[in-house]
Amino acid sequence: MEKPSARRHPLKNIRAFRNSLLKWFSENSKSYPWRETTDPWAILVSEIMLQQTTVASVISHQRFEKFLEEFPDIETIAAASEEKILRAWEGLGYYNRVRNLQKSAQFILDEFNGKFPRHASTLESLPGIGRYTAGAVSSFAFNQPSPIVDGNIARVISRLLDQHLPIDSTNGQKAIWKYSGDLLDHRNPRLFNSALMELGQTLCTPRSPSCLICPVRDFCKTETPERLPIKKPRKKFITVEEHALLWIQDDKILLSPGHDSRRKGFWKLPLRAAEDYSHLSPLSKHRYVITNHKVSLSLYRVKPAHLISGEKYQLISDLLTLPIATPIRKILAEHL
Ligand code: SF4
Repeated sequence: MEKPSARRHPLKNIRAFRNSLLKWFSENSKSYPWRETTDPWAILVSEIMLQQTTVASVISHQRFEKFLEEFPDIETIAAASEEKILRAWEGLGYYNRVRNLQKSAQFILDEFNGKFPRHASTLESLPGIGRYTAGAVSSFAFNQPSPIVDGNIARVISRLLDQHLPIDSTNGQKAIWKYSGDLLDHRNPRLFNSALMELGQTLCTPRSPSCLICPVRDFCKTETPERLPIKKPRKKFITVEEHALLWIQDDKILLSPGHDSRRKGFWKLPLRAAEDYSHLSPLSKHRYVITNHKVSLSLYRVKPAHLISGEKYQLISDLLTLPIATPIRKILAEHL
């Protein structure tokens, strides 16, 4: 779909831009339970819940309402047992979210005498609350002029201002947050932030933006919306083949400290060159990804006679006390 050229600049015609967006929102806004309240606790719960769970799932299972029925305020959740909060979060996954909700409630009671902070900068001091969530609670609950940037808003702003800095780069983030603040309507931050977000969810979608019916098309600078926003090129993976020894004696396992840049500070299985084992069949083979490496690891059960003298090894009994990369820990668990 061809996008009509912009006739006006959103920042130079800012009042008209805001009016167009807010008029559209007043006629088209969707109704969500968290939009029907200005209770900061309820809004914080909704924001945390929606971080890794879709709106459809939260709505269809009435997750938000049920959670608030059980924990209607910060006092109730602050006093609840961990078992109880985890049970209430069942099915939503990423359980650290609910642990942080409880910690935030306790923090507000201890540090702010139970009074919910209004300002984004103070909200950011709560456990697990980042810049976006702090801005969302501050603007949605307290109508404070706090800008927000989530994936939808970053896309809309990149297109509106024809921004070509990668949105996942430091400079790109800085620019988008600044523009979000510049565009924000201080007369009604709550509505404005919701409207900008909803524009991204419904019309200014990633693949096929509906520019012809967009309420702010007159202000939108990009001619190629499908190409925006720009993201940094994906990390290139380095493929590595590794051959490691597995020597277990009296429930102790032979490990050596890692010194290369990938494993510095972590304990690893002793490695050898592939030719050292050309006469043996591997005990097991594993594939895993760690940072920017795709590793294929073959494991050989060998006797001490195969070890190279001069290398530092240690027979370890308590693996839990040592730093070991998660994939290696999983492999060891299969063999112990
Ligand atoms: S849908 Fe997005 S890209 Fe299209 S005119 Fe609206 S803001 Fe611009």
